[in-house]
Amino acid sequence: MALDPELQRAVAARVRYFRDLGVFDFYRRGEPLAASASDLPASSNVTATATEAPSALFENFQDMARVVPPVIPASALVAPEDRANALQLIREEIGDCTRCPLSATRNKIVFGDGDPNARLLFVGEGPGADEDAQGLPFVGRGGQLLNNMINAMGLKREEVYIANIVKCRPPQNRVPEPIEANTCSPFLFQQIGVVRPEVIVALGSTAATYLLGGVKRPLSALRGRIHEALSTKLIITYHPAFLLRDPSQKKEAWKDLQMAMKELGLQPKRS
Ligand code: URA
Repeated sequence: MALDPELQRAVAARVRYFRDLGVFDFYRRGEPLAASASDLPASSNVTATATEAPSALFENFQDMARVVPPVIPASALVAPEDRANALQLIREEIGDCTRCPLSATRNKIVFGDGDPNARLLFVGEGPGADEDAQGLPFVGRGGQLLNNMINAMGLKREEVYIANIVKCRPPQNRVPEPIEANTCSPFLFQQIGVVRPEVIVALGSTAATYLLGGVKRPLSALRGRIHEALSTKLIITYHPAFLLRDPSQKKEAWKDLQMAMKELGLQPKRS
């Protein structure tokens, strides 16, 4: 069955959008869909439901597209002196974003913050109320704890880079939906490709899930070893908000941070 031409053009544009972001693989989830791949333009490799209205199609399409963080080739290295400008270009590309439903309720886009040449990069879930008001990541209570964690590692906050899976606050601080995370995370992947940290620390399950390609696994199965994401060492620990709720887990988080410190050759701060 052929898709109507308007829908075909819209699907092809969406595929181009993902390709521009460096996303090439799309995975189908759930029941087989009505239209077959042969109904799509020759250049695309997605499947789509022909019976749905375009907006519903996009929701399904983005929801089921598992965004796998790209391998970053060594040739893609941005010179250290150009990294601040390269990050600015990504920010300009994001613009006054309306690509996902979170744009309807956000106040400020929280792009990310820190040293464009950082050796260590933290990824959280998404902005909360304080971050949404200020436009900066981790500036609330969780941010205070993250600052303490960074200081305990012998670093200052300005020496690391901090960003989130989604750049706009989810209403009531709910977990971002796959459609939101999959739409936004390619910009994070571009930022990571510019900064090229030696180590990424994922704060909590949402960060771990999307850095590992959209497959959700319990943190207990992911902590305590070094993964790889975006051609970079990835260490997974608890989210500061969880540690505020259950401080007894801080010693476990410290073990994770010590693993990151070992990779970076850092000594803990003496108090
Ligand atoms: N929680 C997050 O995951 N990120 C922030 O920036 C703030 C709170």
